[in-house]
Amino acid sequence: MRTVSKPPDLNFSVFSEDSRSSGRTGLLKTSRGGIETPAFMPIGTYGAVKTLSPKELQESGADVILGNTYHLYLRPGMEIIRAVSGLHKFMAWRKPILTDSGGFQVFSLAKLRNVSNEGVTFKSAFDGSEHFLTPERSMEIQLELGSDIIMAFDECVSGSADTETIRKAVDRTAAWTQRCHHFLTENDSFSPSDTHFFPIVQGGTNETLRRESADTVLPFAKSGIAIGGLAVGEEKEAMVETVNWMDTILPREKLRYLMGVGKPEDIIRAVSHGIDLFDCVLPTRNARNGQFFTWEGKLNILNNRFSHDTKSISASCRCYCCNNFTRSYLRHLFKLKEVLGLRLASLHNITFYLELMRSIREEITEGDFDSWSKKTLSALSSSND
Ligand SMILES: [Zn+2]
Repeated sequence: MRTVSKPPDLNFSVFSEDSRSSGRTGLLKTSRGGIETPAFMPIGTYGAVKTLSPKELQESGADVILGNTYHLYLRPGMEIIRAVSGLHKFMAWRKPILTDSGGFQVFSLAKLRNVSNEGVTFKSAFDGSEHFLTPERSMEIQLELGSDIIMAFDECVSGSADTETIRKAVDRTAAWTQRCHHFLTENDSFSPSDTHFFPIVQGGTNETLRRESADTVLPFAKSGIAIGGLAVGEEKEAMVETVNWMDTILPREKLRYLMGVGKPEDIIRAVSHGIDLFDCVLPTRNARNGQFFTWEGKLNILNNRFSHDTKSISASCRCYCCNNFTRSYLRHLFKLKEVLGLRLASLHNITFYLELMRSIREEITEGDFDSWSKKTLSALSSSND
């Protein structure tokens, strides 16, 4: 481990670096508290991390959560959130919130969309109402939500898209990022000392296009930058390779956010390539299907072999679920579709993910990340299913 001197005027500071990989620990300062990195953001799509209260999230060790602009804009709508001065108050969460730009959902969920250089016209998947989202409107909505980290409005294409389509998305993302930045800097309610703005690099798994995209959006990155357009259907190997060479493209002094990734093993590998921030629906979505994450791999509680199992999910976990309940009881709850089962599984999985990040930070700081990650990756692959 090498100790890195901390620049006093940067919003993101690197604290320690792993000597055998690109892994590092750091701190992103926000006006609502610091985010220790590498960090994981639980997803609160509609202003709630499914089944969990903000109190439970805080006790699990969450420093930051992610809110989805597209979903919140459509339901409940900005008028209702504006009436309480933003998302923090609306959902009673006092720590930082990162909001996405709405772009990814518009491209992946909305019906009948029409993309032009100006923006995207789409029909709500919920009620068919028509909306027009532009880079400027996305910034305006994220400002109204009171986001601590605003994401640039980008064009995200499928992992199987052809090179020409990816190139168009790279060019459009460059123009849109510039418009986002211009809108923010001209807007009185945006203060760069309070709110971070993260541009997004696109380019699929094409190294040349990724480099071009990074060149065009990096001038707008003050404290952090995101890698978008991965985990969207491309080959797993190609994703890993892309994260690997993005490490050589992105500057070390900026926080690097890998959007939408991923599994515990993906997170550990990405950290070794210098990634600092993650989000993923897996811990909460899998929880609702009865799948528990543990240091020894995943455990499907509906499996018959747990019907008389009086052990907790994980002996080393400090969560309320593991401190109090047996696998047989949890299986019983899932068999009968008791809501408590979904809550306990979500609480455990979020606690596991945040504990994973805490362990990563500790191992990097102590200089043991390399041997720890090898041991942990091997244990994680021994699934209990
Ligand atoms: Zn637990």
